[in-house]
Amino acid sequence: MKAYTYVAPGRFELLDKPKPQLQGPRDAIVRITLGSICTSDLHIKHGSVPRAVPGITVGHEMVGIVEQTGSEVRTVRPGDRVTVNVETFCGDCFFCRHGYVNNCTDPHGGWALGCRIDGGQAEYVRVPYADQGLNRIPDSVSDEQALFVGDILATGFWAARISEIKPDDTVLILGAGPTGLCTLQCVLLHRPARVIVCEPAPERARFVREHHPTVEVVAPQECLSFVRQRCERGGADVVIEVAGAGDSFRLAWECARPNAIVTVVALYDQPQMLPLPEMYGKNLTFKTGGVDGCDCAEILRLIDEGRIDTTPLITHRYALSEIEEAYRLFETREEGVIKVAVHP
Ligand SMILES: [Zn+2]
Ligand SMILES: [Zn+2]
Repeated sequence: MKAYTYVAPGRFELLDKPKPQLQGPRDAIVRITLGSICTSDLHIKHGSVPRAVPGITVGHEMVGIVEQTGSEVRTVRPGDRVTVNVETFCGDCFFCRHGYVNNCTDPHGGWALGCRIDGGQAEYVRVPYADQGLNRIPDSVSDEQALFVGDILATGFWAARISEIKPDDTVLILGAGPTGLCTLQCVLLHRPARVIVCEPAPERARFVREHHPTVEVVAPQECLSFVRQRCERGGADVVIEVAGAGDSFRLAWECARPNAIVTVVALYDQPQMLPLPEMYGKNLTFKTGGVDGCDCAEILRLIDEGRIDTTPLITHRYALSEIEEAYRLFETREEGVIKVAVHP
């Protein structure tokens, strides 16, 4: 089969590899019907994910059809259409039982697919702990509708869930990239009084205005004065930082009102400063991330009910044979690309 492979730092190539086989009783083999490219894939390509293993097939956003299951797999059967979770988790350890699946203590747990073991920019993938990692897609939900459930939509859903959003809150979201846009949809499910999105790129700001006319959009340079002047409590009640830019962490806590919740989903290249003397008396609560991708069944139900729709994020479509070009476009952000869909 064809598999897009991390050959060496800076180099991915579409190679011929053998089809994956079951390795344990809790594994499943999934025939991939649609995949995508994530910013984390670019981080692997550029060598900033040291635990990524050269030679692995990359890709951790995909949906497909179960082809084969191990003897202990109970929740899915061959022929089922499924989403694949970015995280591998055992379901049995202390953290899994509490829903903190990102912290699963299993040696194979965490972000393994497309990083430490073969992932999904390929025709087939082996999914360990298939009962945990796979969720059946309702018949009325398309592959494109379900494509982001296992990663960026799980992240947005989790970020909104842990942010304790209340009905009269103003929620500020920093960043309207793919994960920011998923977070926005999940924040809107909580029906806060007001939602503000801060985004520097004009085409992404336009995307938010077009798809979410009730949401206010500001540029980073005006964000702080905007919330100080226009929010009655002097800042946002909840800030969700999804941008991960050089100064967005500082902007996040500065835009928060006293006693606000600041949820940090962003993954930074550099350490961030927590200048406690400056924030003394502001009494903020910080929540930091690593998504716990354990709500996929609920997310699929919300998609089925028409309450979440991330298909507008798919701006470009490619065949697996054209994946090189898909990466180039995604990385250069040309043509207003938000997400690409890759058909094996
Ligand atoms: Zn990802
Ligand atoms: Zn576990």
